[in-house]
Amino acid sequence: MSRRRQIYEGKAKILYEGPEPGTLIQYFKDDATAFNAEKKGTINGKGVINNRVSEYVFTRLAHIGIPTHFIRRLNMREQLVRQAEIIPIEVVVRNVAAGSICKRLGLEEGEPLPHTLLEYYYKDDALGDPLIAEEHIACFGWASNEEMQDIAAMAIRVNDFLCGMFANANIRLIDFKLEFGRIYDGDFSRVILADEISPDGCRLWDMDTNEKLDKDRFRRDLGGEEEAYQEVARRLGVLQNDDGGPGEVLDLSAHRKLRASPPPKKK
Ligand code: ADP
Ligand code: MG
Repeated sequence: MSRRRQIYEGKAKILYEGPEPGTLIQYFKDDATAFNAEKKGTINGKGVINNRVSEYVFTRLAHIGIPTHFIRRLNMREQLVRQAEIIPIEVVVRNVAAGSICKRLGLEEGEPLPHTLLEYYYKDDALGDPLIAEEHIACFGWASNEEMQDIAAMAIRVNDFLCGMFANANIRLIDFKLEFGRIYDGDFSRVILADEISPDGCRLWDMDTNEKLDKDRFRRDLGGEEEAYQEVARRLGVLQNDDGGPGEVLDLSAHRKLRASPPPKKK
């Protein structure tokens, strides 16, 4: 494979220059971090699964009219995306209380929220991605009011779609994180969904047992994170090694101790 220019190495992915202007290649690593990168480790096969899951989710979102950066998957760990100017805001969509909101507001983990909640965090590792209000976004010009309206509307649509998609796989979508970017067309810009949607940035619980099927297994040293990621992919029906190309072979022989329900019905 020809050498490509690396543009950025993040915590979970590497970005390379794409084959055409305005494109990038996202390479998904097995590296895992938590608590603002205080905790570091690897989850074997995570990159392969996140690449697949994100491809699947972004493709389905495109089908319902959500504009995304995803172009196509290139191989087991890489996908081609449109280069965007990332808006420095992490949008967190919450359906059920878990994670930082429990600590902040004294909520019990697993408490359903009165309604879906959108939260905004300023994307800055050095500051630990602090929670911000829309007033901060307007005040510092991180996004325009128009952009924020688009972002909020898309986040709610994505949530509605994903809740149904995961429910069909017997998974409850507790919360998840989204990133958005701008793409320019002359003087005009529009907002598209960027980054990834995978068990790294979602809380996913088994519908029947509430077993965690996401990065909380790593955060809390619960073990079985590889199996959990595989289980999510399997239930979504995206675990087929149909690449044909060289590269890694998915180890499907892993034990199935996390399997708590039958495979999802297709469609
Ligand atoms: P981080 O450690 O910053 O979270 P990641 O390991 O997740 O980084 O790597 C992905 C990086 O690429 C993120 O900083 C993300 O904002 C950025 N990114 C995601 N999608 C795009 C895109 N379409 N164009 C430009 N940058 C992107
Ligand atoms: Mg990231």
